[in-house]
Amino acid sequence: MVTTLFKDFTFEAAHRLPHVPDGHKCGRLHGHSFMVRVEITGPVDPHSGWVMDFGELKTLFSPVLEQLDHYYLNDIPGLENPTSEILARWIWRQLKPRLPLLSAIMVKETCTAGCIYRGEE
Ligand SMILES: [Zn+2]
Repeated sequence: MVTTLFKDFTFEAAHRLPHVPDGHKCGRLHGHSFMVRVEITGPVDPHSGWVMDFGELKTLFSPVLEQLDHYYLNDIPGLENPTSEILARWIWRQLKPRLPLLSAIMVKETCTAGCIYRGEE
């Protein structure tokens, strides 16, 4: 049996989008309460009955979260243009080597707008 697990994390950060047209509100410095959903897909271990301990997922993700929480995202190498799309791919690249079962990263900037990245270039 193969299943998909997810765990949601939140962090606060500031950003601005440098490539939007003049006057666009996202070009101004502002902040979000970001939500990141880390999704993994893999076989359920017949003995434990789970794919992975949620606590282990949290442990693996926390070094990534610590690089983002309460920072100005534009200052982080690779996030000079920190759209949700680029942020989702950046998080994927940080996490995938440590979490081979990673199957998607979802980033939400607001309650109604977000991005899902599944590793395709
Ligand atoms: Zn924004």
